[in-house]
Amino acid sequence: MASFALVALDVPLKKLFAYALAGFTPAVGSRVLVPFGPRRLSAVVMELRDDAADFTGTPKAILATFDDLPALTSDTLQLCQFVADYYHYPIGAVLSAALPTAFRGTAAFREPAAASVYFVDDVDVLLNQLSKRAPAQRRIAEALLVPHTPAALRRLHDSAWRWVQAWHAAGWVSAAAEECRVGVASPDLPLNAEQALVVNELTTATDFSPFLLYGITGSGKTEVYLQTISQVLARGLQVLVLIPEINLTPQLEGRFRARFPGVRMAALHSGLNNTERAVNWLAALRGEAQIVLGTRLAVFTPLPKLGMIVVDEEHDPSFKQQEGLRYSARDVAVYRARQAKVPIVLGSATPSIESWANAKAKRYRLLPLTQRAVPGAVLPKITLLPTKNVGLVDGLHVMALAAMHAALARGEQVLIFLNRRGFSPVLQCGECGWMASCSHCSARLVLHLKERRLRCHHCGHEEAITPACPDCGNHDLKPVGQGTQRMEESLPQHFPGKKILRIDRDSTSKKGELDAALAQVHSGEADIIIGTQMLAKGHDFDRLNCVVVLNADTGLYSVDFRAEERLFALLTQVAGRAGRRETPGEVFIQTAFSDHPFYHQLLARDYAPFANRTLEERNMLLLPPASAWALFRADAPELEQALAALTQIRMCIAPEPNLTLNQPVAATMLKRAGVERAQLLIAAKSKAQLQAVLDEALPAIQALKLGKVRWTLDVDPVEV
Ligand code: ADP
Ligand code: ZN
Ligand code: ZN
Repeated sequence: MASFALVALDVPLKKLFAYALAGFTPAVGSRVLVPFGPRRLSAVVMELRDDAADFTGTPKAILATFDDLPALTSDTLQLCQFVADYYHYPIGAVLSAALPTAFRGTAAFREPAAASVYFVDDVDVLLNQLSKRAPAQRRIAEALLVPHTPAALRRLHDSAWRWVQAWHAAGWVSAAAEECRVGVASPDLPLNAEQALVVNELTTATDFSPFLLYGITGSGKTEVYLQTISQVLARGLQVLVLIPEINLTPQLEGRFRARFPGVRMAALHSGLNNTERAVNWLAALRGEAQIVLGTRLAVFTPLPKLGMIVVDEEHDPSFKQQEGLRYSARDVAVYRARQAKVPIVLGSATPSIESWANAKAKRYRLLPLTQRAVPGAVLPKITLLPTKNVGLVDGLHVMALAAMHAALARGEQVLIFLNRRGFSPVLQCGECGWMASCSHCSARLVLHLKERRLRCHHCGHEEAITPACPDCGNHDLKPVGQGTQRMEESLPQHFPGKKILRIDRDSTSKKGELDAALAQVHSGEADIIIGTQMLAKGHDFDRLNCVVVLNADTGLYSVDFRAEERLFALLTQVAGRAGRRETPGEVFIQTAFSDHPFYHQLLARDYAPFANRTLEERNMLLLPPASAWALFRADAPELEQALAALTQIRMCIAPEPNLTLNQPVAATMLKRAGVERAQLLIAAKSKAQLQAVLDEALPAIQALKLGKVRWTLDVDPVEV
């Protein structure tokens, strides 16, 4: 008989806590309520013990077991334990991150009644009850031949839902759970030879088999996922699909729902409210939801019948969480596939160099898709427009303007890609050179002319536009450089009568604004679209054939060794927006560095040589994946304090062969939100060595008394 439980609590201590069992024995993996100091907290039982001999003090008793959640299985607990160990993060905090918010608190989650659909079995029985002079009611009665949700009924007629409730009470109308609804599946597209080969490989794979699906934009990767998934579902198994961006979820969800109308799908992303997330998560855990489609947090969803994992756009940096538990959902997904002994597909047009290296080393199987799937569609033509010593017209090269006019004259849409929101990135004094900068960050303030504000895009600080230079009193302050707002203001004079639409974080901050904007693009109402990174991904616009990219060079001379890889992915995605149908697309990139080797490789439209060269460089310079990195970050009121703390941390790490202990340095952006930041990079030969070093050093590091300094550890950092 167990008399003690070791539980995981979401507190910043890397240990389990002992509690006594009094009267009842909760199962391992169950959620319980425990006293913790003056508070009560939700905890997860990790282990049951006969004695608490290793623990000091007299353990308090567990107060209650929650019945809102079945006990987590050993698979889920083990996955969380792996993540806790690998990222050196407390297990209680990992479990807390893995559970939906509704299961983290001290109140039990009460599942709302499932939405039902209403329909008639025999419409004549119902019609006989209705007055001949009630045409609206008769119309609703007939509509019920197809199952309708209450929401759908309200859309038909203001009173429809009230009527149907009455008819249901009278027994003339039936109700059923929503998942039972039927519909006509959008048909499978006939696969081309390459796609067929890939689907065959994926569906015949058994056990843990990692694949890298390397397919150019528009090569039909999604169709491959759909047809593969269809076969996995037919075996009665569940599929986990991870995608990077929340604003792409509805689009992909729509495609999945259309293909699998009878299949219960659970979406999991931060666009849902806590109840929706909890409901979907439970459906997955119970094996009822057959497809789970979500962003990185969905990687932890318990799936009793997991049959396959898909990670779409696997190169996307958003798979790595950048705060708190700094995990890579892609890497955790690969671990999970190994644990569950199932195939995993990582898909991308521009795979991460890490995955590329795994494919080269034959750890992943490379599956290429080299053709655009729509017959006749070809990759867009990319033209560089050198801007050095060339006069630009409101930020645009004359050739870009000409191409835009030509495209509009053909009745097509144009996209101007400018990854910089606001009016202009700098407000400068024409006399003395002063520039408006943030008082809390080492960063310039961005001019937002519409709102007449200067804003910091790093800490959110904003202030009114100064009428005069604070240094010399000059009134002639000039906006320098192009932002999306400025482009929006200057374009009408070049394109009178054309509808110009700006889509960036500022123009779509309210719920529904993005959908409304996208609808304007799809309906053809918008002629010229000015968009940031938000628009680079996934969106498929039929009449868009001309893309102009401004300000691309920022990625070229960055301190971050992954900057070029990211720029290649971004430009490939932006270019992929053009000419997805029969009309060939054209992409113009304005650059001050048209001779840079990067652009030669981009123009070759072939990612493989770029990836191979990049991988060779990494191997030569011992950069990841040729080495394994961990980054300690520290912040403090003064840089000196942060550096001193990192020096102490460094001293806790014993030197050994093949381990590089760098010196602490100031962060690239020294000051942010009022604190000064520094970092310490350590590089090992392998992930195994890195883990051993961290395991050895962390107890001593955690025992350090570092005063006002806050530090964090980032294993496999993606931003350095
Ligand atoms: P990717 O995900 O690789 O960018 P998609 O799956 O979105 O590509 O496919 C691009 C376009 O090609 C879509 O409009 C899709 O409907 C179409 N498509 C995909 N496979 C086929 C096929 N076998 N035959 C015809 N069209 C296809
Ligand atoms: Zn001045
Ligand atoms: Zn700031």
